[in-house]
Amino acid sequence: MSDTRYIFVTGGVTSSLGKGILASSLAKLLQARGYNVTIQKLDPYINIDPGTLNPYEHGECFVTEDGAETDLDLGHYERFLNEATSQANNVTTGRIYQSVISKERKGDYLGKTVQIIPHITDEIKRRIKILGSKGKYDIVITEIGGTVGDIESLPYIESVRQLKWELGSKALVIHLTLVPYLSATGELKTKPTQHSVKQLLEEGVQPDILVLRTEHNIETSVREKVALFCNVSIDAVVQSVNVPTIYEVPLKMLEEKLDITVLKKLGLPINEKIDLASWNDFLKRLKNPVKTVEIGLVGKYVELHDAYKSIAEALVHAGAENRAKVNINWIHSEDINNNNYVELLSKLNGIIVAPGFGHRGMKGKILTAKYARENNIPYFGICLGMQVAVIEFARNVLNLEEADSTEMSPKTPHPVIDLMEQQKGITDYGGTMRLGAYECRIVESNSNTCKAYNKLTIHERHRHRYEFNDAYREKFIEAGMIPVGINPETDLVEIIEIPNHRWFVGVQFHPEYRSTVLNPHPLFVDFIKNALQQ
Ligand code: GLN
Repeated sequence: MSDTRYIFVTGGVTSSLGKGILASSLAKLLQARGYNVTIQKLDPYINIDPGTLNPYEHGECFVTEDGAETDLDLGHYERFLNEATSQANNVTTGRIYQSVISKERKGDYLGKTVQIIPHITDEIKRRIKILGSKGKYDIVITEIGGTVGDIESLPYIESVRQLKWELGSKALVIHLTLVPYLSATGELKTKPTQHSVKQLLEEGVQPDILVLRTEHNIETSVREKVALFCNVSIDAVVQSVNVPTIYEVPLKMLEEKLDITVLKKLGLPINEKIDLASWNDFLKRLKNPVKTVEIGLVGKYVELHDAYKSIAEALVHAGAENRAKVNINWIHSEDINNNNYVELLSKLNGIIVAPGFGHRGMKGKILTAKYARENNIPYFGICLGMQVAVIEFARNVLNLEEADSTEMSPKTPHPVIDLMEQQKGITDYGGTMRLGAYECRIVESNSNTCKAYNKLTIHERHRHRYEFNDAYREKFIEAGMIPVGINPETDLVEIIEIPNHRWFVGVQFHPEYRSTVLNPHPLFVDFIKNALQQ
């Protein structure tokens, strides 16, 4: 077995404590001490991947370079580590069962009864070890989704138990719990933590480190109590206090010496030099903005901000780069109508129309694109947001009144957005879109896009079925909406611009997936820069 070390992150007491941010922050610190680290998420639901999930269920679906539709936590991993993840970084129960059942059909189990233990757990263990076996990573952090005690997560916890036993000091478990504050008595309560550790022990796993989410500082005496009752050393009881930005969590974990404790327990050398210079630079810019910019984010899932996680974070990165605080105005596309759009949109310095599927809210989105175009307000259309801009332009500039996407009205006389050739005849919804990174050539060197990227060949990630209909290309060019980015292999239009508008860019891809703390996305940076001049 390779020398890779494995860290498992489990959660107790409640969900949404931020296991993903904890895993990302720890990974960041280990990376800053010179280790190659990757993070993996195991999701205990039966969907094969989150691609078919409504965003209201689990938030955004994050797409990797290799075209995997994954959990939004992978976005945090990439934004913190500045490294790409892949299909192997996200495994669901659906995927585990799918591969076990297809092996069974092939006869791979030689007539044995196929069971959760050992067959499902073996498959989970195999998936955990895949990343470590590549020889690329010193440390693999595996985040187990859900909360300890859930029926769904039992096979995962059992796999962790087995791996801990097999790997000995090369593996450790970090358990994240909540320490609630009772305002009536002014006390922090550790009982839920004790119970959740007991639950973990019942399932055969002794956590090595406890991270306690809390709204108040946890005193030594409370930490001692937790250590004693949960069989962990006092230095392995770590607090995670609420902070104004997730990007501060690594520094909080550094204060708590979480990285040192982890390295000691794993028997790895501790490099005294920790390189967080560019991270700290970013934080300094983020926390000391000199101006403010109002950005409208128009979409149909805005009630749940997690549905647009990567866009929101890309705006944070781009804001810091411009030394500006970005105020996101979350606008529900269904709330925008002929009577209120001026009032809603006129106070904005820049507008994003978000990705999406289906016709709900299209009217509001089209009004938004029209308003931005006519009033010279920086407009950034992402995926569906680009298609909306094209439809609006067709209707109001080319005077093709009923122009539409065939997704929204299959019988439109002017299908300016139409199903891609490769998508025709596809009936399965899962994993069948145009997914992952594709090359795009920027063909107009004086476009805003070209200035932003400062190069002519780019790679961006996709997730869509429909495309700009080439039959209308010339008409659009004549009227002043120009395709400035083209896929060199398929000739698909990837980027459109309106040159006589200050900043009107629509992209068929999802630039937000590639924005990280250390590499803010150039289009977001340029969009904010222009919005600031508005
Ligand atoms: N629904 C559109 C399509 O499938 C846009 C998808 C998106 O915004 N991700 O082409």
